[in-house]
Amino acid sequence: MPLNPKEFVVIAGPCAVETYETTLQCAKGVRQAGATFFRAGAYKPRTNPRSFQGLGEKGLEILAAVRKETGLAIVTEVMEPAAVEKVAAYADVLQIGTRNMSNFPLLKEVGKARIPVILKRGMAATLDEFLHAAEYILDGGNDQVILCERGIRTFETYTRNTLDLSAVPALKERADLPVVVDPSHGTGRRSLVPPMSLAALAAGADGLLIEVHPDPDNSWTSDGKQSLDLAGFHQLMADLKRLAPHFGRTLPVLREQAAAQAARL
Ligand code: PEP
Ligand code: MN
Repeated sequence: MPLNPKEFVVIAGPCAVETYETTLQCAKGVRQAGATFFRAGAYKPRTNPRSFQGLGEKGLEILAAVRKETGLAIVTEVMEPAAVEKVAAYADVLQIGTRNMSNFPLLKEVGKARIPVILKRGMAATLDEFLHAAEYILDGGNDQVILCERGIRTFETYTRNTLDLSAVPALKERADLPVVVDPSHGTGRRSLVPPMSLAALAAGADGLLIEVHPDPDNSWTSDGKQSLDLAGFHQLMADLKRLAPHFGRTLPVLREQAAAQAARL
């Protein structure tokens, strides 16, 4: 199990890797706010084939450079079985997106990897289907599966998806796996991300996956609308740090930051 049950882990970053400069700016900003994982997509599963599809291997190289520069662990999506080995060579954690939750050949392939996998709930998947998908990975011998509630399709249109926070305690009742929440895709609206993040902490989640962009309105993907800017992310992190101890959690810090804090004492 990769997550410590007393910690609340925040994974943050832009939807997609854009340029080296903006990716590094974002990583430095989220690190300063207290995130320990940086997430950005090099391969993007886009509904419209004419939308930006991600930088591919160039994006992976940018992520590796950002890890070297910042010390943040890297989370990034893998979309096809043949790419698992390559993406795992760059990433610390693999992400399986909602559109691939039922891509069984892909699940079997990440089951052979020996790094953690964040499995996002299919947008129309029941909890049973979600847990069966996780079993495909576990059965391959990879026990580092992290479930991610990212919202499901309902009749509501004001929000992009309906964030099913009841899934958090329900999944915890049914499986001994960490659960993180993605309130960015779960709501589709920047203004709703902070309140749903705090609610996820209260619901017993082990962490968050949050889209953050230094200039969200000029993001290369349509997900700018649901991305916090760096100031908004700073504020959310301050609120989480304040609230986490009430729920028996602390926010982890990077090893070098912990050393710097100890030196100041
Ligand atoms: C993403 O994480 O940027 C993404 C595309 O998410 P999802 O697979 O949940 O739609
Ligand atoms: Mn996105």
